[in-house]
Amino acid sequence: MKRVNAAKAYREALRYIPGGVNSPVRALKSVGEQPLFIRKAKGATLTDVDGNRFTDFCLSWGVFILGHSHPSVNQAIRKAVSNGTSYGIPSLPETALARLVNRHVPSMERVRFVSSGTEAAMSAVRLARGFTRRNLIVKFDGCYHGHADHLLVSAGSGVAGLSRASSAGVPEALTACTVSLPFNDAVPVARLFRERGEEIAAVIVEPAPANMGVVPPDDDFIPYLRRVTRQFGALLILDEVITGFRLSAGGAQQLLGVRPDLTTLGKILGGGFPAAAFGGRQDIMALLAPDGDVYQAGTLSGNPVAMSAGVKTLQIINRSGYYAKLEEKSSRFFSELAGVAADKGIRLNRMGSMFTLFFTRERVRTFAEAQKADRDSFGRFFRYMLANGVYLSPSPMEANFLSSAHTEPMLSRFISLVKNFS
Ligand SMILES: *Cc1c(COP(=O)(O)O)cnc(C)c1O
Repeated sequence: MKRVNAAKAYREALRYIPGGVNSPVRALKSVGEQPLFIRKAKGATLTDVDGNRFTDFCLSWGVFILGHSHPSVNQAIRKAVSNGTSYGIPSLPETALARLVNRHVPSMERVRFVSSGTEAAMSAVRLARGFTRRNLIVKFDGCYHGHADHLLVSAGSGVAGLSRASSAGVPEALTACTVSLPFNDAVPVARLFRERGEEIAAVIVEPAPANMGVVPPDDDFIPYLRRVTRQFGALLILDEVITGFRLSAGGAQQLLGVRPDLTTLGKILGGGFPAAAFGGRQDIMALLAPDGDVYQAGTLSGNPVAMSAGVKTLQIINRSGYYAKLEEKSSRFFSELAGVAADKGIRLNRMGSMFTLFFTRERVRTFAEAQKADRDSFGRFFRYMLANGVYLSPSPMEANFLSSAHTEPMLSRFISLVKNFS
């Protein structure tokens, strides 16, 4: 595979952009590669600046459930652009998307749009603190809620009460009110609520984590979080930035039958543009400025082009049978893949149309277990797949995605590549 233009593009980018990338994983360092530079994308196919083609199982981190460059979405975008690209004044597409969000995710009685998942999670946490007049936030190891200072805590030690930032530049004072606990384990949660329940503003969780690789929740874990938060007057925030419109039209909360107080959405929501949202109970959302005293704002929030792309995307996935069809394709693919992978000592975790191949024979249901998977083998696998024209999410602990644009030949090729991997 010739990658002359990509190498040149990388050298040039390095002169102006730290690490040559605008988001660190794209550098492909952890898989021992150099970054791709993409010229165009259509359906499930990426074409790079050297003309190489890759079947895309990352899909801009799950954004493109319809595949890249969907004709109807593009048409909606072009129409929006022709009317101007931002006003800083309300416009109709904002209400149209809010209405659709509310229809799909009924717990989001009121919705506010922002420009990134980071902003959505940060704002939901601020609102939860403002509403409860409490400060403590509980999250789970391996869950990612964007890069706001106070949410960048993994507490890798897994010891309750021990807050340790995952990044330099985050003062301890800013993470002192964040506690990270092991996912899928109710015991430490119960203990923390017993000891400090009156201080806890909110529990924030990815209801089906995808940022430590896909780790399905145990049956009663999320329902337990719902019960315990309610009992102690804390809020439950489901971070559905990845799972929203991915696992079902109503997200993970619909599948799990859990109604959170607040929800965050992103990725699919913006139809390929920088848009995200937080929303939930009307009495809580009423605390936001201008009606309430919890401040939150954004120059490009509710951007009409992004809203129009989101509206069109949600209209398409709302068609009857959309998820049933995606699920049928996914089930068929995954049941075959699971067996082929197991023969190679690889564990398949999946939920709906998202999946991770963990290089371990053990089951993976926590961050600690995910970390035991072999990184070097994953790196070798990533490079092998790339050389064969398949682009995976470039980290052993990330999710991969199917879209309605993936074809049967693409999927059977994936299976045979895994079969031939050694
Ligand atoms: C991607 C993601 C975020 C962050 O969203 P950005 O748009 O990258 O800021 C937050 N939470 C979850 C669960 C995510 O997957």
